[in-house]
Amino acid sequence: MLTSQPTIRPYQSYVYAYPHKTAYGRLDTHPTGRPALRELWAAERKDALSLYLHIPFCEVRCGFCNLFTRIGAPDELTTRYLDALDRQATAVRDALGDEAPVRFAAAAFGGGTPTFLTAAELERLCDIAERRMGADLRSVPLSVETSPSTATADRLAVLADRGTTRISIGVQSFIDAEARAVVRPQRRADVEAALGRIRDVRIPVLNIDLIYGIDGQTEDSWRTSLDAALGWQPEELYLYPLYVRPLTGLGRFGADVEAAADAAWDEQRRRLYRAGRDHLLAHGYEQVSMRMFRRAGAPQEGPADYACQTDGMIGLGCGARSYTTRLHYSFDYAVEMREVRTIIDGYTATEDFSRAEVGRYVDGDEARRRHLLQSLLQAQGLQLTDYRQRFGTLPGDDFRSELDRFEARGWLDGAADAAGLLRLSPEGLAHSDALGPELFSPAVRAAMAAYELK
Ligand code: SF4
Repeated sequence: MLTSQPTIRPYQSYVYAYPHKTAYGRLDTHPTGRPALRELWAAERKDALSLYLHIPFCEVRCGFCNLFTRIGAPDELTTRYLDALDRQATAVRDALGDEAPVRFAAAAFGGGTPTFLTAAELERLCDIAERRMGADLRSVPLSVETSPSTATADRLAVLADRGTTRISIGVQSFIDAEARAVVRPQRRADVEAALGRIRDVRIPVLNIDLIYGIDGQTEDSWRTSLDAALGWQPEELYLYPLYVRPLTGLGRFGADVEAAADAAWDEQRRRLYRAGRDHLLAHGYEQVSMRMFRRAGAPQEGPADYACQTDGMIGLGCGARSYTTRLHYSFDYAVEMREVRTIIDGYTATEDFSRAEVGRYVDGDEARRRHLLQSLLQAQGLQLTDYRQRFGTLPGDDFRSELDRFEARGWLDGAADAAGLLRLSPEGLAHSDALGPELFSPAVRAAMAAYELK
């Protein structure tokens, strides 16, 4: 019999990458020192890499956002940033070598807001990806993030012309008062106009991000936002539960401690999650993960949810992560504005990009956890044969106590085993943000706990 455990808080953390950046450490203090990229990549497969370019600038800082980004870019900072990106791309491509084939199978520009850059700067960004890194943007999926105020016709024309196959826009809410409540001032008319411009350039996949759990949001107002989004027939929709995290705009207002402990807020989010999920399922969307929904029959032109965790990722820019099978690495990370500005300034002044700076080595146990997290948090579940092929064991051998716990809570789909799958039940999927953190290793937990937020 299934036991329900109402005390488990469903919204603990969004596991979009494992290990999280807050578990990374300075590599110059590691016994082997800062590794040369050339050595790190020497034995890696490089014929189907992902390329990610990070642009850490936004016009405003949304109240819920803890991404690595700053407001505005004074004194030609974007030019200096692109100059540094160019230097980094040159160094990284050099480190990849030419002994084995180097090919990129997917690319993405994220942020921040990549379309904070002007149309001419976006051309330069594409040139860096193509000429420095050798990515053929017009022949691989290229995903780009944008915002309503920066999705201008000239920028979108550049992106469409250079081969963008997926554009993702953060709308969060079509109700102006709700947008204001999460410190993202915008008018619905401007959002609709931006969506019209995006559809005009015929980029194959449009993704719209919406948020639930906003102060004052009701099932009715949530449905208004969902229907407004559905009016554009987006190929993808991401429904995000609102989080209030330390050092963010909302966190600074002191809302975190009280609100996070507030069972009523959990209940509101749970209710809105179910309402949103059911509404999209009834409108011909399939659920890909807790957050992601895809219109039936829509092309899969962007990275699948969580795909940014796959091995073989080259991240360029000061907020980007890179993944080899052995090491995940990046630059320093911060949320607080002054710290972010300092890190960006340090990045733009960097001349030598030949070594990794901050990161975490991934051993066999972590690789198993990562594989489990990546697969289990997808609605389609984990293929047991894939896992066995890769690790020689089954998830039940390696994570017995965790899986027993999930099963006792009704989070696993009991019928999936017969199909050779380990899969979450609808209730398990709804609890992705509680289940994911339970799979973190003790070492990663300890590193995250020791990380000093800045
Ligand atoms: S949510 Fe997006 S637009 Fe808002 S501050 Fe964060 S990165 Fe910028």
